[in-house]
Amino acid sequence: MLEEEKEQKLREERKKKEREEEIQRILDESELKDKLTINECKSKERHIPSHVQKEVWERDKGECVKCGSRENLEFDHIIPFSKGGSNTVKNIRVLCKVCNSRKSDKIG
Ligand SMILES: [Zn+2]
Repeated sequence: MLEEEKEQKLREERKKKEREEEIQRILDESELKDKLTINECKSKERHIPSHVQKEVWERDKGECVKCGSRENLEFDHIIPFSKGGSNTVKNIRVLCKVCNSRKSDKIG
């Protein structure tokens, strides 16, 4: 019984480690760039620093915070930059294209 529990725990730890390694690999190999259609902004101020992108990506586990999608992801300013929102981890989240465009429809 005890052995089984030990094995179970080991397996869970391994899984967790694999997940962490996967995230790290994605970040390291800049796969992030391929997976994300980062809102290319014309103005320099709107550019999200890469360390902020990394932190947001890790916090949101690389998926849309609204629907959990892993396709067509974008970084979204919670408070729009034009309304005084800043390029901070707190103000940025990961959204998929669908949720992001829905959001802009509402505002527009
Ligand atoms: Zn979504």
